[in-house]
Amino acid sequence: MTVDVAIVGCGPVGAFLAGELRLAGVRVVVLERSVEPTVHSRAFRLQTRTLELLDYRGLLDRFVANAIRIPKTHFAAIRPPLLDLDLLDTEHPYTLGIPQARTEAYLVEHAAGLGAEIRRGHEITGLEQTGDGVVLQVNSADGPYSLTAAYVVGCDGGRSLVRKAAGIGFPGVPGTVSALLGDVTLGDPDAFPSGIPGTLRTRSGLIMAVAMPDTGIRVFTCEFDRPVPDRDAPVSLDELRAAATRVTGLEIEMSEPTWLARFTDSSRLVDRFHSGRVFVAGDAAHVHFPIGAQGLNLGIQDAMNLGWKLAGQIHGWAPGDLLDSYDRERRPAADRVILETRAQLALMNSDERIDPLREVFRELLAIDEVNRHLSRMLTGLDARYQPEPTAAVHPLVGRLAPPLRLRTAAGPVRLAELLRTGRPVLVDLGDEPSVATAAAGHRDRVDVIAAREEDGATVGALLIRPDGYVAWAAAPDVAPAAVESSLPAALAAWFGLATAAVR
Ligand SMILES: Cc1cc2nc3c(=O)[nH]c(=O)nc-3n(C[C@H](O)[C@H](O)[C@H](O)COP(=O)(O)OP(=O)(O)OC[C@H]3O[C@@H](n4cnc5c(N)ncnc54)[C@H](O)[C@@H]3O)c2cc1C
Repeated sequence: MTVDVAIVGCGPVGAFLAGELRLAGVRVVVLERSVEPTVHSRAFRLQTRTLELLDYRGLLDRFVANAIRIPKTHFAAIRPPLLDLDLLDTEHPYTLGIPQARTEAYLVEHAAGLGAEIRRGHEITGLEQTGDGVVLQVNSADGPYSLTAAYVVGCDGGRSLVRKAAGIGFPGVPGTVSALLGDVTLGDPDAFPSGIPGTLRTRSGLIMAVAMPDTGIRVFTCEFDRPVPDRDAPVSLDELRAAATRVTGLEIEMSEPTWLARFTDSSRLVDRFHSGRVFVAGDAAHVHFPIGAQGLNLGIQDAMNLGWKLAGQIHGWAPGDLLDSYDRERRPAADRVILETRAQLALMNSDERIDPLREVFRELLAIDEVNRHLSRMLTGLDARYQPEPTAAVHPLVGRLAPPLRLRTAAGPVRLAELLRTGRPVLVDLGDEPSVATAAAGHRDRVDVIAAREEDGATVGALLIRPDGYVAWAAAPDVAPAAVESSLPAALAAWFGLATAAVR
């Protein structure tokens, strides 16, 4: 049996990637060891950048209808002041409160609806790369079997077998803190020492609580001076109660746990995002302390970045180094999240020597420009897939496409809506004939759309990748000669040779 792509792991990242590959017409099988979808939600927030990506694929309305919008969020549990997402230049200036189990269910439905084959109860036990494919060893209820795929993507979480089997290293720093979580019923929610939602920092650690939509109150504890326990050791309610008492000095009545887990702040990033035909995405590629709700978001962005590139490779039009750009673009993004989560955790440390630093940060957060800078960092909006702009490169190149409102022959449309097909889009906003002419040989891969900006011309033309990032842009008054000298090169660099040249 042979498939184009086998995805290992049907968590949020594997499910999203499956949808992306199906949208691009790639045959994909997802192998997931769990027989049933998870009911426990590690993540419960989606960040702005992910909301933008969901919007591109027409998925956002369903998420928003079944979640709560949170317009402000915290940095390092400093409150006030909170991070004010309204200061951001986005159509979605909020985080979305939604349990991971629901996010996964929606993404799985989307992928399956597009024709992805999802095999539950199928566990990968090993893999081997041959010259032109990857052979996976799979265990299932019907017995072991092997599956050959042209490419494999490990979306199999922080302990990824795919990563290990492919020989991809996972350097980083080991955990130093002891953290617990429990979804519980509280005896007296109004008396919870941090408030709900809220965070209390004491000399012994941190305690936080948040209301979960489906599973009661989630209580977190984090202690900075205790031995880091074995991650696999089961957690009891008594252990959570004892940690809460050590942090607060109070006996907190908790009962009926629906989920108890432990975690730490181990921060790691793969030494390469792929080895031969084996790729990794999501937690399989990076792990960090779960502060600021970013792991799942980072993984969805990996999947959005990789999906169309892998599809281009399978369909035969990808330029030589397109797949290498996955590592080039996603490594800095993951590095930045690791930097920022470690910075937040350092600021949250219960050591009294951190107190003055927190006070300085409290003052800084009250300055709009700082508040915006940290919000952009936390939401992923500051990602830029390109070195700093030069005079020859339009400042939008490497950025996510701006949230433009357009008018086309078919009526008004948001730029985000032009990306529903998952195909690259060249938007000619200035009626400049050289734009469409330059793209003539790419019409089989690139949609060319003539439009006008509703609110005055700010851009002349935009070449947008399927993941929403700008590959090329021109100013409103661009000269035809400038289009001719730069657009064909950008088309070839990202979407391969023009059809005529291929023939
Ligand atoms: C307490 C906590 C709170 C968090 N809160 C947030 C938040 O609010 N927002 C956010 O963005 N992130 C948050 N995160 C991080 C987020 O949960 C993860 O980043 C996310 O689950 C990663 O998704 P994934 O698909 O990469 O991996 P996973 O969700 O770990 O999925 C991996 C899948 O692979 C399967 N699998 C593993 N091995 C095999 C195998 N050998 N064969 C077949 N299948 C296999 C597993 O069964 C699993 O279904 C939080 C994490 C924690 C611990």
